[in-house]
Amino acid sequence: MSQNSPTEPAGTVYIVGSGPGDIELLTLRAARLIGEADAIVYDHLIADGVLDLARIDAERIYVGKKSSNHTVPQDELNRLLVRLARAGKRVVRLKGGDPFVFGRGGEEIEALVDSGVTFEVVPGITAAAGCGAYAGIPLTHRDHAQAVAFATGHLKDGTINLDWPSLARPRLTVVFYMGVGGLTEICRQMIAHGLPGDHPAAIVQSGTTGRQRVLTADLATLPAKVNAAGMTAPALIIVGTVVRLREKLAWFQSPAASGVTSPDGSG
Ligand code: SAH
Repeated sequence: MSQNSPTEPAGTVYIVGSGPGDIELLTLRAARLIGEADAIVYDHLIADGVLDLARIDAERIYVGKKSSNHTVPQDELNRLLVRLARAGKRVVRLKGGDPFVFGRGGEEIEALVDSGVTFEVVPGITAAAGCGAYAGIPLTHRDHAQAVAFATGHLKDGTINLDWPSLARPRLTVVFYMGVGGLTEICRQMIAHGLPGDHPAAIVQSGTTGRQRVLTADLATLPAKVNAAGMTAPALIIVGTVVRLREKLAWFQSPAASGVTSPDGSG
């Protein structure tokens, strides 16, 4: 059926991470599976150009998700994956970043397990790794951090009810996913739980892409600066003294960077 004499068995669902945005950050396995797939079920946050790797006759199904505005409800999506696999298709379920980092990969696999559908998981570069690299912010630089935490700035019910005492710690880097809407609250809570107002914090919008914008500030001033710069999702918030390293280590210049006024002057 396929033009590419595929090496992967039909009737299988591959939950594939497509990385943070730059198509060159796809894994070789992801690229091959996309090229062999009979059907590709994808979100809105997948890297630009990734679908061009698919066969011309591959079915492309958009199930775009924005945090509070699910285009396709999760149970419907789960049923779709099961139906496609049972029809004997090689299905790639393509997700932004890594499927298991705030990607609901786990939920989708549970449905596959319950239905007896064969599946595999292909990890991807998660946004924190991609944005840290392309913003020149080494998340665990030894002089600054002993650990890094990935936190969600958006909970299922719309509140941010995090374990703030464990996040507002010295020598810890905290990366908030989905944190733009709750940025003011995040910064307020980190200060309320003991971090100084001048504790470094950064935002990376559309990291690793030609649209990347980075702004560095501190907990007290970041929300107003993000507002003034008109920065929006998808973006990561990075909190920790590692943010200071960007001044020296920034290397990636996106065309969009020149449009941002940044305290460190490099956009
Ligand atoms: N599974 C994904 C995360 C999905 S949650 C991963 O591992 O990266 C979606 C959130 O990821 C966005 O709201 C944003 O906070 C973050 N994100 C994804 N891609 C991004 C990018 N290129 N730049 C900045 N943040 C990004």
